[in-house]
Amino acid sequence: MDAHAPNSTSEGSFVTLEKLVSLCKRRGFIFQSAEIYGGVTGLYDNGPLGTLMKQNIRNLWKQSLNHLEQDVVYIDGALIGPEAMWKASGHISNFHDPMVDCMVCKHRYRADDINLEKPCPHCGNKQWTAVRDFNLMFTTQVGANTGQSTTAYLRPETAQVVFVNFKNVMTSSRAKIPFGIAQIGKAFRNEITPKQFLFRMREFEQMELEWFCKPSESNDFYNFLMLQRMMFMHAIGITKERLRLHAHAQGELSHYSRGTSDIEYHFSFGWKELEGIAHRGDYDLTQHMEHSGKDLKVYDEETKESYTPHVVECSVGVDRLFLTLLFDAYYEDTVEGETRTVLRLHPAIAPITVAILPLTKKQHDLAHPLYKKLKLANYSVEYDVSGSIGKRYRRQDEIGTPACITVDFDTPTDNMVTLRHRDSTKQERISIDDITKRLDELLKISFLG
Ligand code: ATP
Repeated sequence: MDAHAPNSTSEGSFVTLEKLVSLCKRRGFIFQSAEIYGGVTGLYDNGPLGTLMKQNIRNLWKQSLNHLEQDVVYIDGALIGPEAMWKASGHISNFHDPMVDCMVCKHRYRADDINLEKPCPHCGNKQWTAVRDFNLMFTTQVGANTGQSTTAYLRPETAQVVFVNFKNVMTSSRAKIPFGIAQIGKAFRNEITPKQFLFRMREFEQMELEWFCKPSESNDFYNFLMLQRMMFMHAIGITKERLRLHAHAQGELSHYSRGTSDIEYHFSFGWKELEGIAHRGDYDLTQHMEHSGKDLKVYDEETKESYTPHVVECSVGVDRLFLTLLFDAYYEDTVEGETRTVLRLHPAIAPITVAILPLTKKQHDLAHPLYKKLKLANYSVEYDVSGSIGKRYRRQDEIGTPACITVDFDTPTDNMVTLRHRDSTKQERISIDDITKRLDELLKISFLG
């Protein structure tokens, strides 16, 4: 079965972001948030298809962690955190980007995004303000009484909630080092210049794995997890030639890092970080011990000594991965003399797995129960009865549906339907009784390289 034809976009041209944005809106993947009020830059809402596809991304990420030898447990922490926590983590003093303004047109830039030797790209003048640091965290006040409320921050990453809960999780789940704590959830950054659609947003979702291990094993786990994460990107169908690992040079490392490697993807706007893998050493637990006064060390039964575990972090944005998958899967090709848009998503990522299409309205009585049966069996299924069959196929191609099933005049007599494959457009006749088996084959995914 032609589940996912090999992707050759690395040799082809890039889809423009404008085309992707337009497809996302037209077909209900992503909408500008509060669009009817003009929207807010960097904020987006997931439409029906975006919601389904992101759920698939989260599920596959979790599934990939099941392949690790040791256990991974999950938490789902608070989005707002107290000032003390962000002081300890280093975010209050370090989590900023350099900002500069054009004094003539007042346009604001991230200073590391532009060349200050050159004129303002917006108005052509060359009068810059001094470069200053802008902290990216959103501040809020907790408590109803002015004067008595305390300052808190929306989390700019999910990781810190894991570190401050490390002891709680270890004790309650009886986990033993090495093990992982994973979290999927929202993060907020008041980015100076949100851009490139979902690439840089102000509210986004992260999937983070914090891997706790003995200091002597942390380098090995860092190298191992790097490969695991790359294998995940391959497994979900991203073109291998468009992925690479970029190791940060010593001078590039964040304040907490002993080593960081990014998995980068080749977008139309260059090679960009998709996921970061960081060897954080004992930085976070040590900081939280110092600032909170609580002991977060672990007792080693073998050596009879306490030690501070090391942490290797794998952090990827759901939305950035979603954008990458769309970008990578977008093709325009010609079918029966007509140009079609097709998203060659891995079937396990595609928001809809199968579309049930009665050839004419006359087949409704047979086709609709089939649709309901598949829906109750938890397949992601759509039913479409209106328009020519060719048009209905195109609609499904455009949203990446890997299989279309057509119920036709012969179905009542032979109990067979036509299964049409998205990428090759090939059609085959199969028995109704074999449909779920064929769909399960399509949805199979291997994280083992
Ligand atoms: P960048 O250099 O692109 O700003 P970063 O190094 O600040 O990224 P991390 O703090 O390592 O990013 O965040 C981990 C992951 O979270 C990133 O690899 C990315 O997938 C995602 N991410 C970070 N910031 C954003 C954002 N503003 N919008 C969407 N996704 C983001």
